Amino acid sequence: MRRIALFLGAVMALSSCSILGNTNWDSAQLGSAMANAATAASITDAQVVELCKQSTAQLDARNKIDNGAYNKRLQNLMKTANVPGLPLNFKVYQTDEINAFASADGSVRVYSGLMDVMDDDELIAVIGHEIGHVVKQHVKSRMKKAYMNAAARNVVNAAGALGALSQGVLGDLAETLANSQYSQKMEYQADDYGYEFAIANGHTPYSMANSLQKLVKLSGGSRASQLQNMFSDHPDNQKRADRQREKADRLTGKK
Ligand SMILES: [Zn+2]
Repeated sequence: MRRIALFLGAVMALSSCSILGNTNWDSAQLGSAMANAATAASITDAQVVELCKQSTAQLDARNKIDNGAYNKRLQNLMKTANVPGLPLNFKVYQTDEINAFASADGSVRVYSGLMDVMDDDELIAVIGHEIGHVVKQHVKSRMKKAYMNAAARNVVNAAGALGALSQGVLGDLAETLANSQYSQKMEYQADDYGYEFAIANGHTPYSMANSLQKLVKLSGGSRASQLQNMFSDHPDNQKRADRQREKADRLTGKK
């Protein structure tokens, strides 16, 4: 809510400038900006889900979708996955990049580069981590913010019709969806979700810890540049791995 207030405040300040004789903005432009602000501030959860769906569709169109062995492995791995209220669907993008993301509409996209470096236990934990960002509402709040930023740049049309979003705006939102960075607290929440998700689907309690440990190792190696934003910018990755390993140790009675 604070961001919305700040943004509306900025629009009000702009309005004051206009009253003081700033002729750079005509009233139609200002009205449009304010309509955008109002639309962005009141964008519903259902509309954010629709934004996520459209952004995912754009990424699907831009990437090569695997229909072979990668896809078979992923579908098989995820066949028991069930999140109440979130209809999951899974696809593999053929690329060396080490990444995965989940969208608020239930779409999960896994990059083949990630599948190359993870065993099934690790992979399901990473996917659970990404789904955790959706379940904990991180994705929705991030996409809402991205949409509001687009409105602030006055690139969302005045009616705010989601169907009329330009490909450029959708491209920015898609980039946000695929490469979001979250706070340490949010990452911990998603790690905890991934830990439970792996166990619920029949995998070792060490799945989340092992996947984080592998990402720590990769971030110091030759494939670091392919890690994209996944874990690469978090200084506390080792701490995250240790935290999940300690949980698994407690569960299995090792500590
Ligand atoms: Zn994350």
